[in-house]
Amino acid sequence: MNLTVVGCHGGETPKHRTSGFVLRAGGRALAIDAGCLTSGLTLKEQCSLDAVLVSHGHMDHLKDLATLADNRCQNNCPPLEIVSIKQTIDILKKHFFNGLLWPDFTKIPSARHPTITYRTLRKEQTTEVAGFEVKAIMVSHTIDACAFVVRGKGGVLAYSGDTGPTERLWEVLNDTPDLSLMLMEISFPNEQQKLATASGHHTPQTLGPELLKLDRHREVPMLLYHIKPTFERVVSRELTKIKNGTDLQILRIGDEFKL
Ligand SMILES: [Zn+2]
Ligand SMILES: [Zn+2]
Repeated sequence: MNLTVVGCHGGETPKHRTSGFVLRAGGRALAIDAGCLTSGLTLKEQCSLDAVLVSHGHMDHLKDLATLADNRCQNNCPPLEIVSIKQTIDILKKHFFNGLLWPDFTKIPSARHPTITYRTLRKEQTTEVAGFEVKAIMVSHTIDACAFVVRGKGGVLAYSGDTGPTERLWEVLNDTPDLSLMLMEISFPNEQQKLATASGHHTPQTLGPELLKLDRHREVPMLLYHIKPTFERVVSRELTKIKNGTDLQILRIGDEFKL
């Protein structure tokens, strides 16, 4: 499978895009988070998506679902499956596609031929989504949020979603001996620790010890995303001081990985 980084930042400017990734294998396409799926993909690419995994109900991870649904509706694309834990699906129904903030695209153009459909994942239960095997693991954020473990042809990818220090995810990953690579969040610099703790995010000084919870931390490449544009330089500098043998790489828009 192939991983494309569409957006990998914790904020937006003309040079930064909020979280959005696309996995492709065997002609199927699965997006992980929707912070940039219209700002970063062509209409053709938008229409090629089979499903979107949404890690939690924060705007920077789902905002482009609005414009994605609108574009797909006009292009008669097949229904897009929006997949997440119940708490996130509830937020989307009640606060986003609620007929006020944005139309309810489960009924447009008609209930029989909707633009979007919802699928609820049960925690830690493997589910087939767009040809991939997906598992949601709860993490530690300010609202209910999950990480995803995605198994496809060629490997297993873990996506942390937004989280501060957490436990269960690492236990699950330590039981996943064929984990190929991990997308891990890092948001604030060390001097913003209070804000990071209050908002359920990592700084380099919490990330360093956190990564040691993964038994294979010296082998599994750690692809870092969700740095706040304001603090990009200082976070990058502080990350170079993590010397625990992990293979850290700060993601950039357009990066591609083959698993
Ligand atoms: Zn969040
Ligand atoms: Zn976020």
